Amino acid sequence: MKLILLGAPGAGKGTVAKMLTAIDGSVQISTGDILRGEVQAGSELGRKAEEYMNKGDLVPDSLIMGIMEKRLQQPDCAQGFLLDGFPRTIPQAEALKELLARIDITLDMVVSIEVPRDVILDRLTTRRTCANSACQAIYNVKSSPPQKEGVCDKCGSPVIQRDDETVAAINHRLETYNQKTAPLVGFYEKEGLLKSITGTSSDAVVNTIKSELGM
Ligand code: AMP
Repeated sequence: MKLILLGAPGAGKGTVAKMLTAIDGSVQISTGDILRGEVQAGSELGRKAEEYMNKGDLVPDSLIMGIMEKRLQQPDCAQGFLLDGFPRTIPQAEALKELLARIDITLDMVVSIEVPRDVILDRLTTRRTCANSACQAIYNVKSSPPQKEGVCDKCGSPVIQRDDETVAAINHRLETYNQKTAPLVGFYEKEGLLKSITGTSSDAVVNTIKSELGM
């Protein structure tokens, strides 16, 4: 399947994407995960991106399109992909449309996951992430803590609160989402690709996507 997952930070895009990869081997492509990996590796791209990310601002479109142009042409994308956290602005959506036409890829659907703001705020402030950039497993101190406090079940690395998941940074990220990313819903509605799904349960969101795709 070739899908874009839209939704505010904390709407569950990453969880839904991970569940969908298990269905048909499509790969999850999270620009946030790629950028955090670059920051941890100390690359030039990581150094450029870090100051935007820590403030909860978007990284410039040109950096993101450079990453995605390469990533979408890697062989593992042929089976399908789930775009998680990209595109985030109208110029990114326009550049993606041009890129997909050029490399002859057709999207199946754009899913907008709609979750109430209070649920999102609660999820993000209680979310913890594995610090190992190759793992980035997600935990929640209330609903799914690691077995040993502060230690990743999967790889044993420390489990941390991301710098951009403090209350101030989260409020700023949600504002940025409303201003810059929410207009993509209208963009993809016009393209005839949009399916909005309201729901706080990732299982229910995945089941709706499967039935929309006739799976
Ligand atoms: P995420 O894990 O998707 O919430 O992304 C974390 C941070 O990475 C965001 O707050 C942005 O600073 C940056 N980022 C991720 N994806 C994009 C994108 N498509 N465009 C611009 N910045 C992005």
